[in-house]
Amino acid sequence: MTRFIFVTGGVVSSLGKGLASAAIGALLQARGFTVRLRKFDPYLNVDPGTMSPYQHGEVYVTDDGAETDLDLGHYERFTGVSARRADSLTAGRVYQTILERERRGDYLGRTVQVIPHVTDCIKEFIRQDTEGVDFTLVEIGGTVGDIEGLPFFEAIRQMRHELGSERTLFVHLTLVPFIAAAGELKTKPTQHSVKELRSIGIQPDVLLCRCDREIPQSERRKIALFCNLREERVIQARDVATIYEAPIRYHAEGLDDQILAALGMASAPDPELDRWHEVVRRVLQPEGAVKIAVIGKYTGLKDAYKSLAEALAHGGIANNVRVDLEWFDSEIFESQEASTHLEGVNGILVPGGFGERGTEGKIAAAGFARQRRVPYFGICFGMQMAVIEAARHMAGIAGASSTEFGPCQEPVIGLMTEWLRGNEVERRRLGDNLGGTMRLGAYDCDLADGSRVAGVYGQRRISERHRHRYEVNIGYRERLESAGLRFSGLSPDGILPEIVELPQHPWFVGVQFHPELKSRPFAPHPLFASFVKAAVEQSRLV
Ligand code: GLN
Repeated sequence: MTRFIFVTGGVVSSLGKGLASAAIGALLQARGFTVRLRKFDPYLNVDPGTMSPYQHGEVYVTDDGAETDLDLGHYERFTGVSARRADSLTAGRVYQTILERERRGDYLGRTVQVIPHVTDCIKEFIRQDTEGVDFTLVEIGGTVGDIEGLPFFEAIRQMRHELGSERTLFVHLTLVPFIAAAGELKTKPTQHSVKELRSIGIQPDVLLCRCDREIPQSERRKIALFCNLREERVIQARDVATIYEAPIRYHAEGLDDQILAALGMASAPDPELDRWHEVVRRVLQPEGAVKIAVIGKYTGLKDAYKSLAEALAHGGIANNVRVDLEWFDSEIFESQEASTHLEGVNGILVPGGFGERGTEGKIAAAGFARQRRVPYFGICFGMQMAVIEAARHMAGIAGASSTEFGPCQEPVIGLMTEWLRGNEVERRRLGDNLGGTMRLGAYDCDLADGSRVAGVYGQRRISERHRHRYEVNIGYRERLESAGLRFSGLSPDGILPEIVELPQHPWFVGVQFHPELKSRPFAPHPLFASFVKAAVEQSRLV
């Protein structure tokens, strides 16, 4: 019998609701409970897969191939629980489900309405697939008062009505800003936000107040009085030096105790937080630093590379160093020598990306890394660009390119129309819908004996998550291998090149999948740990 914890936000967006949810999940887990975390987004896209990274940040891909909100990445990193398709929902998907039912005639001539049909559908999604889980956390995207969020708030209000206060809990995240001119912390925005919530029938059980300094007891008392809840349930959430400190600080403020008390579970065991302390110690007291250049396209918005930045930090945790990132828009390498910017970096990473803009710059950066023997990590698009670079400059295939940029003479990267997933054939066609038509989710890959990656992973068969349309063309394997680019990872049927590496280089690896999605602070991904290690070694040379 699962209990539901609903996390809502008010005052402004970007307060870190996702992290707060992840931290609550981690604290409950540290007390021995099982958790499941979900994100419901009120926008009308069916999923974030078709949205620009500028709009929405990174698209987080689950093992079962769903394109989801980046908060699911926080959930996985904090709890180690792999997210599934059922853990991500948008209003678009709710309406899609309802409209399909309506067309099928499922509503038997009735008028289809927001209440009860939309709200019932949301409740179905909240409840589905929660068997055997102690706590299901559901974060509602946006802020209270948004028009499009209303059906979601109404659905969770009904959940409380149906299940009672021992099985449902509302945590509301707000901001308590410090107004410099007045020299005071202001509680009014929080009061207004809770008023808004109460006007739609939701009384928060716990308030989590973001602030940049201590909230005096008198102010907490005031918030408690005006927001109609107990003083000890007004919890301050001060800014932290590293996100991995959040569970420790929240616990110190009594957040998990209050959540459990509100649910009538006051006697739950204390949490085991040693591993969190150890991660924080490693992050805050590194023994050195390395500089990694990340060469991408959406570098103006760091959220576009959230998991990547975290995975690199985990690589630092594994090696006891701080990883300093320098972000470059790849286009600058089209007009300026790579060496002007990349001299002095200890590693170069080209992440995933789409479209032709800036690709020659990425190819130039891969060429610089290859020739100057700087550790290079190419992820998805970054692998494809490295393959084009090797084809042109190692194998002498001058016209090498990707069909993603239009028809070309030498398609070393091209569109595959069918491939195997387990024993099933999957197909895709040119001109298919854009939404959800990529190779998505976890696929197995076999590593070549004696290759660098086989050593890094320490196993022969791995499983990693994908999100791309194009593939390295296996038809070029012989020419590329005889020029020195090893195909060290292949799909089990041997058709899809998944990893390439340069055996003669200190560290040059390109992977077709997204290893950053599976890295966790307690279990840094082996490729990131190994790449950062190579960067540390490189830093000793210069
Ligand atoms: N644009 C490339 C493709 O679709 C790479 C995608 C990616 O890097 N995720 O294959």
